[in-house]
Order: sequence, then C-alpha cells, then structure tokens
Amino acid sequence: MHAIPFFNYKGAFSAHEQAYLDLLSDIIRRGAFIQQRDLVEFEQHLAAYMGVKHAIGVGNATDGLIMAFRAVGLGAGDEVIFPSHTMVASPASAAHCGATPVPVDIGPDHLIDPAAIEAAITPRTRAILPVHLNGRTCNMDPILDVARRHGLLIIEDAAQALGSTYNGRMAGSFGKAAAISFYPAKILGCFGDGGAVVTNDDDVARTVRLLRDHGRNDDGEVETWGLNSRLDNFQAAVLEFQFKNYADIISHRRALAAVYESELGQLAQLALPPAPHDDGPHFDVYQNYELEADDRDGLRAFLKDRGIGTLIQWGGKAVHQFAGLGFTQTLPETDRFFQRCMMLPMNMMVTLDDARAIASCIREYYGA
Ligand SMILES: *Cc1c(COP(=O)(O)O)cnc(C)c1O
Repeated sequence: MHAIPFFNYKGAFSAHEQAYLDLLSDIIRRGAFIQQRDLVEFEQHLAAYMGVKHAIGVGNATDGLIMAFRAVGLGAGDEVIFPSHTMVASPASAAHCGATPVPVDIGPDHLIDPAAIEAAITPRTRAILPVHLNGRTCNMDPILDVARRHGLLIIEDAAQALGSTYNGRMAGSFGKAAAISFYPAKILGCFGDGGAVVTNDDDVARTVRLLRDHGRNDDGEVETWGLNSRLDNFQAAVLEFQFKNYADIISHRRALAAVYESELGQLAQLALPPAPHDDGPHFDVYQNYELEADDRDGLRAFLKDRGIGTLIQWGGKAVHQFAGLGFTQTLPETDRFFQRCMMLPMNMMVTLDDARAIASCIREYYGA
C-alpha cells in the first residue's frame, strides 16, 4: 500500500500546476499585487455564495476575528465566551482587544455547549464566539436564544466551515460578523495565509475595510489606528480558481466521510462524527474527520507503521489546558475528548480507495 500523508501540502499545487503558473504570471505582468480586481471579484463571489452583504479579504482569519471584535468595540473589561475545543487563535483574537476570553465545555456534538454558555454568563459578558469546527455548524438556535435573552453579540469563528449550513443557513451568517480562513490546509486553501471577514452590517464592514488597510479610507484619509492585513491579490485569484469548483470539493469530502462511516461505523472502539446522510438540520463540509478512539495512541502508531498519517489537533491540547495562558476552569467533557480524539486524512488528495485502505487498517488493528 502507498503512503497516505495526513495532508499533502504539495498536492494542491501539482493538481493544477499550469493553471496556477498562468495565474501568477498574469498577475505579476499586470503588477496587480494588493487590493486589485482579482480580490474584488473573489470578495463578491464569496458574499454571493454565503448570502451575506459583505465579504472582506484579510490577511488571515485570526486578524479577521481581531478586526471584527474591534469593529464592534470590544475592549478591556469585556468577557467573551468560547469553546475550549478550538485553535488558540479563536480566544487570542478577543485577548488582543483587551477582553477576557472565558472557555466553556463542549456538548455531545463536540462543539460549544449552549447550556455551558448560559452558566458562564456574568455582568461583564459581552459576546459569544461559537466555533464551527471540522466543517460543522454549531446548533445555532439555542445559541441565538441565549444571546437574545442576555443581549450578547455573536461573532462566529467560521475558519473551518465555509459552505456548512444549519437549517439552510451558512456558518458565518448568523452573528454580527464571522471570520473564514484560507490557510493551505483549510477546505478552500491558498498558497500562504489568507482569510475573510463576512458580515451583513454596513458599519462593521466599513470599519473592517479601514482596519485591514492602515485605518485608511478610499481617499487615503486615516480615520483610525489600523493594521496591515490584506488578502493578497494573487492569493485571491488562487482562491477564486478553486472556488469555481467548490461544490465538487465539498462532495468529495462528503464521499470520503461516507466511506469512513460505512467501513468503520460498526466498530464499538470508535465514536465517529455524524454521517453525511444523517445530517438532520446540518449540512457538514468535513473540513476534518475527527473521531474518538479507544487506545488512540496505539492505533495512531499502528497506522503510522503502515504509512498512514493522522493528527491530533493543536498539539493535543484544548485551549484551557495550555498552562501558560493561566486558565483555571475545569472542563470535563473537553478533557475527556482530548484523551480520545484524532483525525483521519480528509482532503482532495485522498481518494475513496485510500479511505477504504485506511479503514481496513483500522479494522485490522481492532481485530475486526
Ligand atoms: C485555522 C483556524 C483559525 C485561524 O485561521 P488563520 O487564517 O490561520 O489565522 C482560527 N480558528 C480555527 C478554528 C481555525 O481552524
């Protein structure tokens, strides 16, 4: 059997090498590097796809969240509730605005638990930061309900969720604003860093446009202290190229998930993510295929010996487990999950036969 890396970073380029080189020479010949036509076209396409008023290309999703929080005036004394099962970038964005991130536990869907949100609310709580992890939208109805009853803002971390929906609405379209990531390993990935802020709010959109470009408006007048966090024109063109076939990208990932489900669903040693045919109000895009496994570390070593790469996200730690960040909360569900979680290969370079071969190694490991 050939080796199957967890993610083949070179593969995305080699799949369409000549097309990408043509794009690159066209853009360099035009000298169109920053905030040019290709960026505007991609932003318009993204906004239309998501059914939101504004999509603003930014340097990365972390900056996108920071700018979204700054646009709504988050600052010192404010608390932001987030799920500890996420990348540190999510709460870091609130911390960079001077606010206090408050980690809470996950529910059975491994996403932020609405009941835990409610329990963590204090007079200082200003916002909720739901994270639509692994290409699945959080159960937004109860989250919107908590937010409404307590007068809280929702800023969504949709870094992993472009195209995923809940009750027919796109992840990233529920709150005041959201950030999406185009990091190379994300479903829509460029050849470097990239991100977008999406919002239906004209004022937030205007402020984020100022903030990403040194606080300058279209006349060059500086209105506020800004950042330099723009989505490069070339990266925007690369994204637009892939975005044209985004439906195929999603269906391949869902097909891989269906193979994993049918080949592994019977194993008592595993707890799989929801199956694509069993979404209910959800439509999942499978940014990742994260499962729980008995004897996880043994399984990973066994797969590694057979050339199959797996990953435990974020160094194997939830955010509240990083001692240097000084959190004191105990989050039993998240702690339990991190002892058992791992991810199988899930991307465009993995074939359905690869997924079958991976599943068969896993069955072999458990003697099934
Ligand atoms: C990737 C990721 C981010 C950060 O995105 P960047 O574009 O790398 O800044 C934030 N949150 C989550 C959940 C992510 O997966």
